Amino acid sequence: MSSVLGLKCMKCGREYDPSATRYVCPTCGNDGILEVLYDYDRIRTVLTTEQLENDPDLSMWRYLALLPVEERPPSLTLHIGWTPLYASKRVGPQLGLPHVWFKDDGRNPTASLKDRASAIAIAKAAEFGEHIITAATTGNAGSSLAGLAANAGVAAYIFAPVSAPAGKIAQLRVFGSHLFLVDGNYDQAFDLCMDATERFGWYNRNTAFNPYMVEGKKTVALEVAEQLRFEAPDKVIVSVGDGCIVSGVAKGFRDLLTLGLIDHVPQLIAVQAEGCAPIARAVISGEPVTYLENPTSCADSIVAGIPRNHLMAVRDIRSSGGMAVTVSDDEIIDAIGFLGRNEGIFAEPAAAASVAALRKLADGGDVHQEDRIVVLITGNGLKDVQNALKVKGTSMTIPPIIDAVEQAIADGF
Ligand SMILES: *Cc1c(COP(=O)(O)O)cnc(C)c1O
Ligand SMILES: [Zn+2]
Repeated sequence: MSSVLGLKCMKCGREYDPSATRYVCPTCGNDGILEVLYDYDRIRTVLTTEQLENDPDLSMWRYLALLPVEERPPSLTLHIGWTPLYASKRVGPQLGLPHVWFKDDGRNPTASLKDRASAIAIAKAAEFGEHIITAATTGNAGSSLAGLAANAGVAAYIFAPVSAPAGKIAQLRVFGSHLFLVDGNYDQAFDLCMDATERFGWYNRNTAFNPYMVEGKKTVALEVAEQLRFEAPDKVIVSVGDGCIVSGVAKGFRDLLTLGLIDHVPQLIAVQAEGCAPIARAVISGEPVTYLENPTSCADSIVAGIPRNHLMAVRDIRSSGGMAVTVSDDEIIDAIGFLGRNEGIFAEPAAAASVAALRKLADGGDVHQEDRIVVLITGNGLKDVQNALKVKGTSMTIPPIIDAVEQAIADGF
């Protein structure tokens, strides 16, 4: 039995029994994103630090008591979660920050944090008796759902913009999804996917529209807290597209605070690309979010001109006492190399955006030497080789002759 008490609308505040709706608020429609409410008194009796210490399950399912599912889906055997939290070796120190960690979620089975949410989609579809799941994606949500669906033996219908990076499209093909490459942007693919659910009844994984995705994403925060022995960090840097990861991170820490396992919720630092920053601009200006018709950035995973979870995301960033930062595409590409050569961690552009932000905050004096800072690396760099190749590495083309090597080294190569 899950400990879900109900679903609360972000817009009108009405509460519903989970059996009343699968997705959004029946009164507000698609703007009525729902938040999952739990019976923490019940959870407190089963989720304790001792229980966690003795749990051999090193995956996201160790937090089953805090998840909106009846059980770990038996059909899903891929290993999701419990990704490494690395203490920074050179990036932090170079920026004058001795307490920086990288949470490498590129280490998930389909190489992004999205697997945490897709796992919940697989579980909920099984509970509802659905065998077809659909999702709109900039690339990662879809490739994640496709991979997990392939493992669980259900069908995935995916709507991705035709411009999605080749690595992500390759994953979508390899995992056998039914792939619609939409001649349009992500926001249009999203609307099309919604129409498909309405017409064909497929179970819909769309971010925010499906209230349970934030719950899967929150496991990254639960892990960070546990990996830091429940001494919550001061700041967590999160790249933001639709705004579900950042709300997931907030929810995870709030859950632990409610359970008495940590003593504060970290400040959330939201990062967006200059060419697509509706949430960041709202946080900075204090105004409501305004949508963007033609957003652009090399960080495809955070190009969402109509951020579907903006109400919850802006609320969560503000209430954490956090802030928002924008970074340019040049800064993002530069950060891929900075992280790679200093730590051996390969991030896709959207993930490196958080490293670019760390750098900017350090330069601007907005983070301090004593701050304990966790930087989420949300996706692996091999997903987008085209952008990674823009990083200036140290390479030269030579004939297959040892003298050429000697000459190069003599020249200081
Ligand atoms: C999806 C994604 C994000 C942004 O997550 P939202 O929930 O859309 O805000 C950031 N980085 C990567 C790699 C992603 O795939
Ligand atoms: Zn409502």
